[in-house]
Amino acid sequence: MSKPVIALVGRPNVGKSTLFNRLTRSRDAIVADYPGLTRDRQYGTGRLGNSPYIVVDTGGLSGEIEGVDPLMADQVRAALEEADAVLFLVDGRQGIVPADEVIANYIRQFDKPVYVLVNKAEGCDHSMVASDFFQLGLGEPLAISSAHGDNVAVAIEHVLSALPAKQDEEEFELDEHPGVRVAVIGRPNVGKSTLINRMIGEERVVAFDMPGTTRDSIFVPFERNGKPYTLIDTAGVRRRKNIKEKIEKFSIIKAMEAMADSHVVILLIDGSEGLTDQDLTLLGLAIESGRGLVIAVNKWDNLSSDQKEWVKNELSFRLQFADYAKQHLISALHGTGVGDLFKTIDAVHLAAFKRVSTSDLNRVLEQAVLDHQPPLIGGRRVKLRYAHLGGLNPPRVIVHGTQVDKLPAAYTKYLVNVFRKAFKWVGTPVTVEYKVAA
Ligand code: GDP
Ligand code: GDP
Repeated sequence: MSKPVIALVGRPNVGKSTLFNRLTRSRDAIVADYPGLTRDRQYGTGRLGNSPYIVVDTGGLSGEIEGVDPLMADQVRAALEEADAVLFLVDGRQGIVPADEVIANYIRQFDKPVYVLVNKAEGCDHSMVASDFFQLGLGEPLAISSAHGDNVAVAIEHVLSALPAKQDEEEFELDEHPGVRVAVIGRPNVGKSTLINRMIGEERVVAFDMPGTTRDSIFVPFERNGKPYTLIDTAGVRRRKNIKEKIEKFSIIKAMEAMADSHVVILLIDGSEGLTDQDLTLLGLAIESGRGLVIAVNKWDNLSSDQKEWVKNELSFRLQFADYAKQHLISALHGTGVGDLFKTIDAVHLAAFKRVSTSDLNRVLEQAVLDHQPPLIGGRRVKLRYAHLGGLNPPRVIVHGTQVDKLPAAYTKYLVNVFRKAFKWVGTPVTVEYKVAA
């Protein structure tokens, strides 16, 4: 089901995060609508034309890794193992340095297509700056500028065109999985497998267990009250059943792909540990995926009443930017709260795919503008003329008008809230995007 995964590798300061930002710009629409959501600097999605891809900045490769959470350090290796292509960034202004050779040798062992990108080449003779890096023995280097964008699209074009085309086929395969597709994501040991077993109950069908690589999730179809669902299992429940131990590795890329394949995401958090940085990373990625979202705080049975109070406070305080997502306090082990979880999944799915007529949209927009005028910019009032629905799951409202590109984020947030309320868009991100009318 996979989008190609492109890993960025290189020493500190060669420009990886600058390149990462350039490659993942398509996410800005959603991120801008959720003030307080910090972009994850390591994982993102982007697209070139109609071809989506996942980008991973493996920043930790070159000595930065100390002091980093070991779980995150594992993710660097995992990213290289799971990558379809590696972009090896070097600094064209500095020329080749010994650490570049060390990194070249390190990435060679993964046996992936590697592209050497010679960065900071703006204003330089491209073939001159690039030639130095031939000696890395990783093919013909390409001169680029992350900061200015020179040759960045060309580089991605090279990467994508060398990969086997499989997108169309996979869209089709996804449709074969019946009903509401629900991805269950979360850190190791939060209780994903336990929850999945609970949700599926006794009648699980064991027939379709064909996971491929570590990156593939398992799709588990089942019915509840006559309604079809497919759980996307990132924890590898069924393989564990046979082998009696955990052979699945935690993989953020796998979680991202599971979310992309889903309609609704359940982010599972371990209530007995409170909210961790990895939970927040996964939450950020869940929001960016645009899918319907339910937050389930597990192991509630295992908490004292003081702990419960503390966790509730922390959740309401630190998850304000995801306040559209309903929080469930559950015990996967005992099954407490799992029925309610299904109710929310159904409601969120309905909301994320609800069609809204253009006339209703415009009626709501008109009232919103009456209630709260857009600001004056450069002495002229921003005019919002009309709106149409640009997409579903997540709902995207496109607003046309003059100077709309200059509206402050707070006004966008206001519109998002007005639309969300008017159309009962619960549990799903909602984006408002603008088109400047001439
Ligand atoms: P990272 O540590 O590899 O993630 O590197 P950064 O993206 O943080 O960039 C390190 C420095 O190089 C910053 O000061 C950037 O502004 C600068 N930089 C990044 N890309 C370019 C480029 O294409 N040209 C120039 N001249 N500077 C760049
Ligand atoms: P996964 O790695 O996310 O799939 O987590 P597992 O489902 O394997 O659960 C990890 C551990 O947490 C196991 O020992 C489970 O029995 C335990 N666990 C899972 N859910 C609950 C719960 O609701 N309450 C308690 N007390 N323990 C749980």
